Amino acid sequence: TRPETVDAGGRALDVLRTVFGYDAFRGDQAEIIETVVAGGDALVLMPTGGGKSLCYQVPSLVRQGVGVVVSPLIALMQDQVDALSALGVRAGFLNSTQDYTERRRVEDAFVSGTLDLLYLAPERLRVPETLALLDRGTVALFAIDEAHCVSQWGHDFRPDYLQLSVLHERWPDVPRIALTATATETTHTEIARRLQLTDARHFVASFDRPNIRYRIAAKNSPRTQLVDLLRSEHPGDAGIVYCLSRKSVEQTAEHLVAQGIPALPYHAGLDSRVRAANQSRFLREDGLVMVATIAFGMGIDKPDVRFVVHLDLPKSVEGYYQETGRAGRDGLPATAWLAYGLQDVVQQRRMIDTSDGDAAHRRTLSAHLDAMLSLCETVECRRVQLLAYFGQASTPCGNCDTCLAPPETWDGTVAAQKLLSTVVRLERERGQRYGAGHLVDILLGKETPRVTQLGHTSLSTFGIGADLSDGEWRAVVRQLLARGLLGVDGDGFGTLALTEASAEVLSGNRPVLLRREAPRAPRSRNARGS
Ligand code: ADP
Ligand code: ZN
Repeated sequence: TRPETVDAGGRALDVLRTVFGYDAFRGDQAEIIETVVAGGDALVLMPTGGGKSLCYQVPSLVRQGVGVVVSPLIALMQDQVDALSALGVRAGFLNSTQDYTERRRVEDAFVSGTLDLLYLAPERLRVPETLALLDRGTVALFAIDEAHCVSQWGHDFRPDYLQLSVLHERWPDVPRIALTATATETTHTEIARRLQLTDARHFVASFDRPNIRYRIAAKNSPRTQLVDLLRSEHPGDAGIVYCLSRKSVEQTAEHLVAQGIPALPYHAGLDSRVRAANQSRFLREDGLVMVATIAFGMGIDKPDVRFVVHLDLPKSVEGYYQETGRAGRDGLPATAWLAYGLQDVVQQRRMIDTSDGDAAHRRTLSAHLDAMLSLCETVECRRVQLLAYFGQASTPCGNCDTCLAPPETWDGTVAAQKLLSTVVRLERERGQRYGAGHLVDILLGKETPRVTQLGHTSLSTFGIGADLSDGEWRAVVRQLLARGLLGVDGDGFGTLALTEASAEVLSGNRPVLLRREAPRAPRSRNARGS
């Protein structure tokens, strides 16, 4: 090692101790910081809570000049600056929420070098005045936070991030550090390419969050299941409940409040003041439940979030992992609980079929959904599968639902054939397609008004499925849909259709091993304190 690098390492540790009050660097922090202090570029992939901020904050203090941090989290900039100021770090931000005087004050501080860190909203860099401003001062480094926002196929795409290659073109000698908690190989490569991080060192931390217990349950009556979970395992705890729509956010929050569980709603349709107030109450008060769309959570640093619940199926494993990663940042036991049902699959397949965008885009969305479904339907360790998705090998964890109560499997080949042949008969003989409910009624031999009226009692498959219950049939349909052995019609009504793979099942060339549903989620105590 060169002497100046050793010296830099010493200064970095000094800053860590005297400014931030920590004893030692964690994981790759020391090496990342050394790289940037020495003027090199870095691409950092670390899970939420892993300690990314120090990776650019420390080098900003060690290197000459001001560390410029590009962040999409405008709502959090004030908090971040306040937290740094409390440590004696001179920080400021520039975004659209400021008035002229305030902006002027920060700009002057930047130019005169009396700042250590400057937070910038990405859209600021579209403004020529901002680029000119950066020329007038000394930039110590550029940190690009939430770097996955540059990925066009990702779930957080921000068009302004595409502009960030300008940094490298205009200031080729200033080191850049890009950071994200999203880690699939494709996002990783896309970040490096779009930000022109050709010579950057890549730091990929372990994505395991061992204190989070992953659980995925069949969705029967989601709000009741949620209340049961919170009452039995998380009384008085703070947590986040994600819902897909604004309406279900509001209804769920109201339901919790009516059940005596303090909850607040958060979604993009709320007035921005209400949103900010709810967010700050969630951060400052104890034991509040935030019911939110995925608009909530990025950059939120609340260490004692004890549970993250998803009442609707996330669109991708990456999104799911980021959202669940907000639980248990303090390292204490936390729960990630997802309720998922047939309707989720139907709805999401339909949304993809009817979405804008070209075929390639739909294929990407579809691949994301398939990976998520395979996580839901697996009979193996959830964590092993999650980490494998991020390219990291591991062994069964002992702290997820499938490890703790290994699900039974059963040979569902015949059941699948019964169901699929009903679809075939209706489609081929009568040119008709139906949703899951009606198909299950036929299999169960239920003479509902609809079944009778349509003459479906005369189908040869009428009543041949009486050996399974309504719920069991729905689980069969769901699992076939999840594996692409059954499809959703593009008609927008959620009717079911055959896929190419259905034929293999019908011809007996493809056995179908299914996951048996637990009759009711057992009320296991969480492993807190044990
Ligand atoms: P991320 O941005 O990766 O989600 P943060 O930078 O917010 O994570 O860090 C998560 C928590 O860990 C913060 O409370 C931070 O102060 C703490 N932390 C980070 N690095 C260290 C360290 N080396 N020693 C002790 N605590 C640390
Ligand atoms: Zn496991």
